[in-house]
Amino acid sequence: MRIDLHTHSTASDGTATPAELVAAAAAAGLDVVAVTDHDTTAGWAEAAAALPGGLTLVRGAELSCRWHGVDPPISLHLLAYLFDPADATLAAELARLREGRERRAEAMVDLLRADGIDVTWDEVRGYAAGGTVGRPHLAHALIARKLVGTVSEAFASQWLGRRYRIPKPDIDVFRAVELVRAAGGVPVFAHPRASVRGRIVPDSLIVELAAAGLAGLEADHEDHTPEQREHVRALAVELGLLVTGSSDFHGTNKTVKLGAHTTAPQEYQRIVHAARGVAPVSG
Ligand SMILES: [Zn+2]
Ligand SMILES: [Zn+2]
Repeated sequence: MRIDLHTHSTASDGTATPAELVAAAAAAGLDVVAVTDHDTTAGWAEAAAALPGGLTLVRGAELSCRWHGVDPPISLHLLAYLFDPADATLAAELARLREGRERRAEAMVDLLRADGIDVTWDEVRGYAAGGTVGRPHLAHALIARKLVGTVSEAFASQWLGRRYRIPKPDIDVFRAVELVRAAGGVPVFAHPRASVRGRIVPDSLIVELAAAGLAGLEADHEDHTPEQREHVRALAVELGLLVTGSSDFHGTNKTVKLGAHTTAPQEYQRIVHAARGVAPVSG
């Protein structure tokens, strides 16, 4: 069984539509794929409808969170699997995050324009093709003007990495864990040691989150070194948390391939057994 529990579609900042994503997952030889777009369930229906035979779909999302235990607070990502999308509190919170993301992207366009870079909001929204607007869509506008060559170049500090970056709206991580559990979902901390992405939280926070209902840790991820993967794995064992491995596929916005990292079947089963929201869908 090849199981990849973290991918993005055009419903957030990936480049494959949900239908293309599940087709690509089957072509990559996966048995199980999770669609985990940022702060949205908008890709779920299309992915389920397009599911090829033999592939199982895990419906999920990746929530933008923040830990306020230090100053300034640290942003982190929480994967949420198989939660009930109709849960009113969680749905309202996701809607708030998405609206905040739109306003943030619009404000980043304003910053670029103030520096004489003639990017327009309509154009950037067009790149998002109806999905939530994110930094990759701003990157495409910069590429179209030949200001940068690639999305990664656009994420450098002189562009969208720092100079024109505005923080994303987010949820307190403890509240996020509570909301996901209340909606019958299974919360897993995404790339918890990825220091390459910014500041990371201390293990003491992970201990507290485990006590508050966190179910697992993503160990095998492109942004973790082998040492970081081992560290996360050992911490999960110590705390009785499940362990996942995933590609965090973003289509051509990143170089990582579907199935580049995978989750062991028994760890996947722990997620399925813990879920009370929706069940995996089989094609
Ligand atoms: Zn993430
Ligand atoms: Zn992700």
